Amino acid sequence: MRDYCIGIDLGGTFIKSALVSRDWQIVRDKQSPTPAGGGPDAVVAVMARDALELLAEQGLSHGDIVGIGIGSPGPLDLKNGIVVGMPNIPGFTMYPLRDRVSALTKLPAVLENDANAAALGEFLAGGGRDIENMVLLTLGTGVGSGIIINRRLYRGSFSQAGEVGHLLVEPEGELCGCGQRGCLERYCSATYLAQYAVRRIEAGQDGMLAQRLKAKGTINSIDVNECRKAGDALAIETWNRALRFLAMGCVSLCRLLDPDRIVIGGGMAKAGVADLLDPLKAFFVEEHWKVAPVHTELVLAELGNNAGMIGAAGVAWEKHGQ
Ligand SMILES: [Zn+2]
Repeated sequence: MRDYCIGIDLGGTFIKSALVSRDWQIVRDKQSPTPAGGGPDAVVAVMARDALELLAEQGLSHGDIVGIGIGSPGPLDLKNGIVVGMPNIPGFTMYPLRDRVSALTKLPAVLENDANAAALGEFLAGGGRDIENMVLLTLGTGVGSGIIINRRLYRGSFSQAGEVGHLLVEPEGELCGCGQRGCLERYCSATYLAQYAVRRIEAGQDGMLAQRLKAKGTINSIDVNECRKAGDALAIETWNRALRFLAMGCVSLCRLLDPDRIVIGGGMAKAGVADLLDPLKAFFVEEHWKVAPVHTELVLAELGNNAGMIGAAGVAWEKHGQ
């Protein structure tokens, strides 16, 4: 009986793998450093070794496994299982990741965008359980996202759906790494909200946050939140500005998709309910149209770093388990 999938979350620093059961529980997992300097073949060798070790350590054989799902940074050619390019790991240019993993493990494999995998993970086992439609937004360096419609990942016609961080929110706005101007993530990700505060300080704004930047040489979203709670004017303005932009993004998602829930994850979501979710909800209600009540719930993600592995396993079920 094929009762398990393996989910692999390929990152620039770590390769995280898990044996996942039919009810989306992680039965066993492991984490290895990504041998980024060794080229793609070295990376694939670690992925395959860890996957096979998970089987052996759990006393399972190939006949117990539906397949391997791989969540990877991109851009990707999902249909052909190919990594088109990967900014953080050199050498992955038009690399057939899916087929290489499959050849080394002798198991069917499927490739998925890492943000989509995380969204599917939260949908199956975290903040999106028991609903139909959901969007995951992860607040980190940028704003990652994935969309679930009618209980399935929505990938779009060209595998580029769910790039909510690159919704345009300001004409002539901040230049984004993607080449557009005014992308949402430039206003509300953890990295860019801190960058906004630094620019204001460099332009002469003083206060507690400015002092902290002087002392530490750098500040992040946690510093901004701490100084905000201590009453620093720039920190309050910076935090609220980011949450207002994020709330506008959430309202746009409601108008477009009408989801049951928008799930907020990533490092910045660790600020928690009182500091992040509650003020975000307040801005969301304020910005939301008034012609009908607010239905969509905003909630925090529940799975943390496990979402990617569980979702990658979910993609393998979707492809090979039915
Ligand atoms: Zn962009």
